[in-house]
Amino acid sequence: MALVVEKYGGTSVGDANRINAVADRIVAARGRGDDLVVVVSAMSGETNRLTSLAHEVSDHPPARELDVLLSTGEQVTIALLSMALNAKGCKARSYTGTQVRIRTDSVHGKARIVDIDDARVRSVLADGYTVVVAGFQGVDEHQNITTLGRGGSDTTAVAMAAALGADECRIFSDVDGVYTADPRVVPDARRLDRITVEEMLELASSGTKVLQIRSVEFAGKYRVPLRVLSSFEEGPGTLITYEESSMEKPMISGIAYHSDEAKLTIRGVPDEPGVAYQILGPISDAHINVDIILQNVSAEDGTANVTFTVHKNDYQKALAILHETAERLGATEVVGDDKIAKVAVVGVGMRSHAGIASKMFGSLAAEGINIQMISTSEIKISVVVEDKYMELAVRTLHKAFGLDSA
Ligand code: ADP
Ligand code: ASP
Ligand code: MG
Repeated sequence: MALVVEKYGGTSVGDANRINAVADRIVAARGRGDDLVVVVSAMSGETNRLTSLAHEVSDHPPARELDVLLSTGEQVTIALLSMALNAKGCKARSYTGTQVRIRTDSVHGKARIVDIDDARVRSVLADGYTVVVAGFQGVDEHQNITTLGRGGSDTTAVAMAAALGADECRIFSDVDGVYTADPRVVPDARRLDRITVEEMLELASSGTKVLQIRSVEFAGKYRVPLRVLSSFEEGPGTLITYEESSMEKPMISGIAYHSDEAKLTIRGVPDEPGVAYQILGPISDAHINVDIILQNVSAEDGTANVTFTVHKNDYQKALAILHETAERLGATEVVGDDKIAKVAVVGVGMRSHAGIASKMFGSLAAEGINIQMISTSEIKISVVVEDKYMELAVRTLHKAFGLDSA
């Protein structure tokens, strides 16, 4: 008998019919003899609805209270799914993150899971119940409710699977697997039968939201057998693998995009030791994460320009800090731009193939898309472009690397 953790995302539990359909799937899985822990998201749109409600009563809702509010979305779906299961004759019990004791740190809104107490879940399973767990939430050491960041139910599921040593973790969504690019943007995108955990990490960190990045980190760390599937249709989905298959190594596995970042530039800073530190130190002191950093070669007058990107949520704050820094350093100018997007190509085959970067830059140039910044890792190349070109860039690269379905 297998122990399986299944996760159903927002669209999959979007209304009572969908919840009944998920319950039918679970009844069928139980019929095959599997023990099941089911993690669910809030109904689609609910987390957004609750977030805007909070902003209607407060310009700056306290992070602790926001988490109390947002966690209710998942509490609704666990209760409804449990009711549906019981109505179908399948014994089920629902638990919030606090009840399970999914312990996290205290960083409200993007808490990290530090430990999961599996005792209660195991004993309820042993009593023959299907256990339904609220995704996206946990509890800190002071008993405060925390949430794990958008898309966090994926992480709850993979972390539960790791804690329980589950035989498989299945992430059910509205797509039937991981595609070579977002099928909403590239209609010709293809489902991948398998993808390495490293590639999935790079895709998730570059905007492929089918799996939250932390869920992939957990999967990699604990080697959780993980599959992405559709809750709407049967199919093999996409398996996350932990070893590269030597048979087929496509150069590029996928293209990712997002427009969550903004770019800041400080011009005319003295080009001397410690300047990058003086510019980026105050940014990091303000707990703002910086992604790409670029410093040009020194100009003849001994000054330099430094450009970096931050999350759009931190843009205004970073801009204010940079203005102060500019005054202190006697810089000539500070400019900001939040109309940017990042597009990345990812593939383990990059390690053994030359010419990927030039192909990428050449095909973007042929479409008249200007590249503003470039960054690379061993298996990823990402570029910053003007946001209006984002989708065109994704489709262009998808075609250029031969990823379109035949
Ligand atoms: P859920 O609500 O089930 O968690 P999400 O909306 O978080 O689902 O993630 C699924 C969505 O991710 C898909 O509808 C799809 O538009 C998007 N997506 C982006 N890139 C990809 C990709 N490469 N493969 C599959 N889906 C992708
Ligand atoms: N409900 C949360 C969100 O919308 C968590 C999740 O769906 O994974 O981000
Ligand atoms: Mg999601």
